[in-house]
Amino acid sequence: MVAGNVAVLLIGALLMIDNACAKAAEITAPPDLIAFVEDRTGIALPKDQKIEVIADDSLIFISDDAEHAGADAAEAFGVIYIPERIADKIEEPRVQALIVHELTHVAQELRGNVYACAGQREAEAYKNQSIYLLKVGQFPVMSPAELQALANCEGSY
Ligand SMILES: [Zn+2]
Repeated sequence: MVAGNVAVLLIGALLMIDNACAKAAEITAPPDLIAFVEDRTGIALPKDQKIEVIADDSLIFISDDAEHAGADAAEAFGVIYIPERIADKIEEPRVQALIVHELTHVAQELRGNVYACAGQREAEAYKNQSIYLLKVGQFPVMSPAELQALANCEGSY
């Protein structure tokens, strides 16, 4: 019942995105980021993985959960969404790391994992995002302790 309602909400939200984003652009995920996530997850990703560029205020409609309400990117049903405000910064390490995070969610869907909580799903994505940031000499988004708490279903997820 609850899951059904969430699905209906999500479909409604995606239709809203469709309507709100007639001028949305579509880009292909950078091959080096796809390779990084394939290596981390062991899952073969689509080589033409699309990233939809949507209006800055549209992202909130993709997901009504706390994480994505103010997020810089999102993933739903194998599609990655980023707002226009960061689309022209795609070469910046923190934006690339964000794409790594969302590509991890694509891999998780292909792998068909079932999670005890949303945090378990997010832990892997934030871990890959953080490892990518460390690789390019930037601060990670989460500490190992924070990642472990997420994976243990502690906290707000
Ligand atoms: Zn996430």
